[in-house]
Amino acid sequence: MLNSALSHLVCSQTGTRYDADVVQGVSAAGMPLLARYDLERVAATVTPADIAARPRTLWRYREVLPVRDEANIVSLGEGMTPLIPLPSYGAAIGVPHLLMKDEGLIPTGTFKARGAAVGVSRAAELGVKGVAMPTNGNAGAAWAAYAARAGMRSLIAMPVDAPAITRAECVAAGAELYLVDGLIGDAGKLVNAAVAARDGYQEVSTLKEPYRLEGKKTMGYEIAEQLGWSLPDVILYPAGGGVGLIGIYKALLEMRELGWIQGDLPRLVAVQAEGCAPIVQAFESGAEVSEPFANARTVAFGITVPKALGDFLVLEAVRATEGTAIAVSDAELLEEQRQLALREGTFICPEGAACMAAAKRLRESGWLRPDDRAVVLNTGMGLKYPETVNVDVPTLSTDSRIPPISVG
Ligand SMILES: *Cc1c(COP(=O)(O)O)cnc(C)c1O
Repeated sequence: MLNSALSHLVCSQTGTRYDADVVQGVSAAGMPLLARYDLERVAATVTPADIAARPRTLWRYREVLPVRDEANIVSLGEGMTPLIPLPSYGAAIGVPHLLMKDEGLIPTGTFKARGAAVGVSRAAELGVKGVAMPTNGNAGAAWAAYAARAGMRSLIAMPVDAPAITRAECVAAGAELYLVDGLIGDAGKLVNAAVAARDGYQEVSTLKEPYRLEGKKTMGYEIAEQLGWSLPDVILYPAGGGVGLIGIYKALLEMRELGWIQGDLPRLVAVQAEGCAPIVQAFESGAEVSEPFANARTVAFGITVPKALGDFLVLEAVRATEGTAIAVSDAELLEEQRQLALREGTFICPEGAACMAAAKRLRESGWLRPDDRAVVLNTGMGLKYPETVNVDVPTLSTDSRIPPISVG
């Protein structure tokens, strides 16, 4: 028995109720569906101390996850990634209490594994035989991997410019993969048309099914648990479709209702690249939804999302927590990626590096205070983006010598 307290789904825009025990996509209004749980029952039956004794995967929060039968869990050990201090880098940018939640250390090397583990598990439980999605690469790689483990088919379409390794991951996992000469939205249209003409496949595009969000929200639960059920002052997140940030906010609200956390919520920061910053533009103009961003392009490929279905949910989370939205340039984020590796030995992804660049800028502007405890989500490992490092080193002939330099 798993004791999921899942009760129903609601439309994120109208609040209309939907049945959680059949396959669902978006609401009648075309908007994301959010999972709701019987939190009173959870609060009455589980305590943080019970959770502390459970295995170190995201399934430790099983009561607030949608899978009803343990036998349906498809797991590769995802979750409970380290929350590590960055003393040297933090001091250098004037934020000494800077922490990084390192999602590079998770199956498939990005936090997309969280959404895939929970999404695939729940889809399998509801009888889905194949999943189909457009992706900027990492989500496709993760869903292909978990689909393979579930014995399920996967149909993936990604832009030709997506990180090359993610193609190999999809092919290795047996996915039906298509490269698209365009952006993620173009891939989405092709997938949508394909699913309409197939049986047994569910479209699992970002926020077009309710459970990827549930997987990603576990980052919020873990941050609180890893800080002894206290909260940081600020959380910085690289927002593409924004699922991670919407999920963390959802987790915060659930934990508050459960009585597991107290006090002010962290200020949530949506970080984007200057080459694709629709949510930042909307935040700055006071709009409730974003406008499609023209000619989107950034090395932080995972956040190249010109128009996100859940943009209004990201903006709501940022505003409700007195957070902010900020865009950084590719040059800045690549520099911070290098600084992290130099000062802390950790090779992070460009999306995570965008959050470091944002922390630096927000400290310079005074928005981040020197005593703020700030958590940066590094959403993936640098190893998936080897081309972001310019390697210019000498090649030695076998009879040459390495210069004699001593470090004392
Ligand atoms: C997908 C992705 C993001 C953005 O995630 P969203 O949920 O779309 O906001 C950030 N970083 C990496 C490495 C990604 O793969």
